Amino acid sequence: MNVLKSFSLLFEDVLSIAFPNNCVLCHQSLFESEETICYQCIQSLPLTHYYKHIDNPTAQLFWGRCEIANCASHFFMNKHNHVHDLIHLLKYRNKRTVGVRLGKLIGTKLKSDESIFTKQDFIIPVPLHFKKERLRGYNQSFYIAKGIGAATGWNIMENNLIRQKENISQTKKTKYERWDNVDGIFKLKNSEKLADKNVLLVDDVITTGSTLEACVHALKKASGIKISIASVATAGD
Ligand SMILES: [Zn+2]
Repeated sequence: MNVLKSFSLLFEDVLSIAFPNNCVLCHQSLFESEETICYQCIQSLPLTHYYKHIDNPTAQLFWGRCEIANCASHFFMNKHNHVHDLIHLLKYRNKRTVGVRLGKLIGTKLKSDESIFTKQDFIIPVPLHFKKERLRGYNQSFYIAKGIGAATGWNIMENNLIRQKENISQTKKTKYERWDNVDGIFKLKNSEKLADKNVLLVDDVITTGSTLEACVHALKKASGIKISIASVATAGD
């Protein structure tokens, strides 16, 4: 990291400590009705509107790989937009409130009349490996799940789906090699708790879908489970 970049990050930290009630993106002071991100910055986030469409591009990512009830990413992310900045703040700058705020935005849409999503019994954040969570200090997906829960009233289930292996190969594989690749990454401790339940898996960014595929693979141990997926972002303009 160059000196200028380090200085600018330090400056950002000083700003957020000195002005905790300011927007994390534009640093303008927030109105009482605003939380973490100002209304204007929220308006600038490019929505996918996938939550209204069953066969949306994120859902198509899982076709022929695993059975999903409904699936939607909520914002397009690229290196030059605010979604990228928000994900960075959430994952690497300890801004957990960003996850909650984004989760609330997502939850409101999931529960709206236009949504394809039905009522969920549980929200499950994609777990991190315990070593990674210890290093970061928190699981960013948990805070997104918390926001979705606050907006929808759906319960969060933690510590039932656990991550046993740290890494997942992202390379292109055949269907059978891929199956082998995702098997055993996650483990469901108590499958009975999720039998016949509607479950919403929550992640920050969907890229190849391999991590979520591995989660679905483990969750399917619960008989009659219906799995849906919500993520903050997917690549795109
Ligand atoms: Zn702002």
